[in-house]
Amino acid sequence: MSTTNNYQQYTEIMQQAADLNNAAALLAWDQEVYMPAKGATTRGRQIATLSAMAHDILTGDKLGQVLERLHSDSTLTINEKANVKLSTEDMERNKKLPTDFVAEISNQSSVCFTAWLEARKQNDFSLFAPALSKMIALKKQQAELVGYAQHPYDALLDEYEKGASVAMLEPVFESIQKELYPILQRIKEKPQVSDACLLQHFPKDAQWEFSLEVLKAMGYDFDAGRQDISEHPFTISFSADDVRVTTRVDENNFASLLWSSIHEGGHALYEQGLPTQQYGLPLGSACSLGIHESQSRLWENCVGRSLEFWEYFYPILQKKFPQQLGNVDVKTFFKAINQVAPSLIRTEADEITYHFHVLIRYKIEKMIFEGAVEVADLPSLWNSMYEQYLGVKPPTDKEGILQDVHWSHGSFGYFPTYSLGSFYAAQFWAVAQKSNPQLVAQVKAGQFYDLLQWLRTQVHAHGRKYTSEELCEKITGEKLNIQYFLDYVNKKYALVYE
Ligand code: ZN
Repeated sequence: MSTTNNYQQYTEIMQQAADLNNAAALLAWDQEVYMPAKGATTRGRQIATLSAMAHDILTGDKLGQVLERLHSDSTLTINEKANVKLSTEDMERNKKLPTDFVAEISNQSSVCFTAWLEARKQNDFSLFAPALSKMIALKKQQAELVGYAQHPYDALLDEYEKGASVAMLEPVFESIQKELYPILQRIKEKPQVSDACLLQHFPKDAQWEFSLEVLKAMGYDFDAGRQDISEHPFTISFSADDVRVTTRVDENNFASLLWSSIHEGGHALYEQGLPTQQYGLPLGSACSLGIHESQSRLWENCVGRSLEFWEYFYPILQKKFPQQLGNVDVKTFFKAINQVAPSLIRTEADEITYHFHVLIRYKIEKMIFEGAVEVADLPSLWNSMYEQYLGVKPPTDKEGILQDVHWSHGSFGYFPTYSLGSFYAAQFWAVAQKSNPQLVAQVKAGQFYDLLQWLRTQVHAHGRKYTSEELCEKITGEKLNIQYFLDYVNKKYALVYE
């Protein structure tokens, strides 16, 4: 067989698996957006069937043999070589998980998600506990099957952030405690800013329309995506030409819907910017969750919570809500959206206390996989950590341990990538401004074309060609450096708290 045919054959196999996985993803999207409650059980098995078929292809002899042949092929381009190398690594990892096991996890995540929804509805963790216990048992089994050098949690972290481990994260979270804590204390000593202007009645439709306008201005392509409502906002991609976002509605808090939209919009721009000709291949998918999160955070925080952004958008917003915001000036609004206050809900936290929410989840997940805590004791552990790190106590499970969807999906090891994302975002944002001194003036004029193009060429176009560490070095000339985030925080909050 000729070498060209080998690579073509490889591409076809990979794209077949991608088709199955993307069909499963579409069913999952529907499950969280439109599906009636009774559909859950059958939907679970439908998704499991498709996932298992994809898994079979990705671990099958056919792919293994073609990869084998491609290894000794010296005619491949650099990108083709990168795809072959990454697919081989993925295959080795996938092969460690038997097909039955993958189907069981997929099925359990549907059961677990439904239990989580019900537990939230009834505001009772005990309704979630049995399904969660089973999920944790499966993930412990997964860690053993995949293997790890030092800590069982490493096996799960590596799935979302290649190379991440407890050893790598300990110093990161230590610096959150050591470096961020004093900044938080300094802010607490200042006269507090008010967010009263955000906590009025904002009718749903006008909020929704405004979020669509902002997404459009950012460059989100509505011919290759759409926005819907879900319990927990998310982005999901079926190809670079169909990338959907969801948001949530709170008519009594303006901050909830819009920044969820901007955040998910940042994720979606990344997915829409992946090279379409690499569909189904490693170079056609995102680098890592940390880098993914850097894109959402850059748009949500560095851009969407900046004074310059609102100097452009605020008059437009005031026209939509003349009664609520007509007499509120832009500086007051800017301070309100950047108020720092320890709170209960991670997704509504400010840019500083946010990292303590992540720190708590990181510590709890580590304990779960060390076998240092029982599922029944999780709510009390959660509540005591919130008192310790943030000085707040959740009155009920819904404002506490039941707030995040992640554990119901079995996504342990996911949370730390949120903090990594903020730190990468600050570093990228600083370097982007340096490379284009007009960038901030453009944000002030509601123009985001140059910024998006910079992200497209620096980050999106590469897919998984580089690891997050390599990509960061390539873009910024150095490894992840938390100092960029600390500088960003210091500069911003000097403005907010004068
Ligand atoms: Zn995100």
